Amino acid sequence: MKKNHGISLLLVLMVSSIALCSAAPTWKRPWLGVHVLLTTRDKTEQLTQVVKDLAQMGVNSIVAEINYGYEYESHPELRSGNPSSKESVKRLVDECRKNNIRLIPQFQCLGHQSWKASTFPLLAKYPQLDETPGKYPDNEGIYCRSWCPLNPEVNQIIFGLMDELIDVFEADALHVGMDEVFLIGDDACPRCKGKSKAELFAKAINDYHEHIVGKRKIEMLMWADRLIDTDSINYGKWGASANGTAGAIDLIPKDIIICDWHYGRREAYESVPMFLEKGFRVWPASWREPDAAKKLIDYSRKFDNPRMVGHLNTTWGAVPIRELTAFKPLRYSTSAFAPQSAEYLSEIK
Ligand SMILES: [Zn+2]
Repeated sequence: MKKNHGISLLLVLMVSSIALCSAAPTWKRPWLGVHVLLTTRDKTEQLTQVVKDLAQMGVNSIVAEINYGYEYESHPELRSGNPSSKESVKRLVDECRKNNIRLIPQFQCLGHQSWKASTFPLLAKYPQLDETPGKYPDNEGIYCRSWCPLNPEVNQIIFGLMDELIDVFEADALHVGMDEVFLIGDDACPRCKGKSKAELFAKAINDYHEHIVGKRKIEMLMWADRLIDTDSINYGKWGASANGTAGAIDLIPKDIIICDWHYGRREAYESVPMFLEKGFRVWPASWREPDAAKKLIDYSRKFDNPRMVGHLNTTWGAVPIRELTAFKPLRYSTSAFAPQSAEYLSEIK
């Protein structure tokens, strides 16, 4: 009998610990994240090698911007050079799971469909999906190309790509990018010409939300800048919208996680409380200047609001992936949340 009791107790403990694990996912804690461009297989393999070190310094989330850098099967013609294989992503997924890191893939939607003279695969292969088809040869005179948010063929293609990423990453969230969209509602587009840019931007967001949150039942993240009106908050035309998209903020679901990026020093980052007051969860994001990152972290941590979820460090090539743990802004953000990180780390050991 005694032995049976022992076995029963053991079973109860095992079931309890499983229940505790599933009831306490990492995202219930401050999200200490790093955003990495993961557009080639080499980068995926480099990141896999530093996951354990990142976890030890307190990082519990990684946003992996992969875009066209994956061996897509639904549209192999849209693979960019040296794409990550299913096996290389799986190794990263396993390493993140082993180290209790939430891995969030990112597929850059709507804008950022080119960089300098190079047009990315979707609009290179299907130029008819471009918001400004035939305009701006060699991308001269523009920042980046956009796809047309009203062309139904776009979503047919990109939802297939999103599905592949969600499946291979076993993702519980997808980041859709959507920053710095300057070409929208362009006169060159017969569908969008003359329409409200705020409504066009909101339609794109709502379409992606319907697929990601509605159909796939996972969370959606996006960058903040096009939802901030530069007339209300003086961030300039990059950090905020001077091109009519900001009205979309009141036309989209509040369960979207807003990644509010600010890379310069300011006394106040007024969009943080603005998004919180609107009911969004906010993930403030910094970049390479340690003093600027510190300003944003210290400012945003003052808000005693459960929807202020933590801090996201972007890198944008400022640090090689192999040297991520030495990245000063990342070291500051993890140490700023040290009590929680220490507790978190002690619990997973
Ligand atoms: Zn259009």
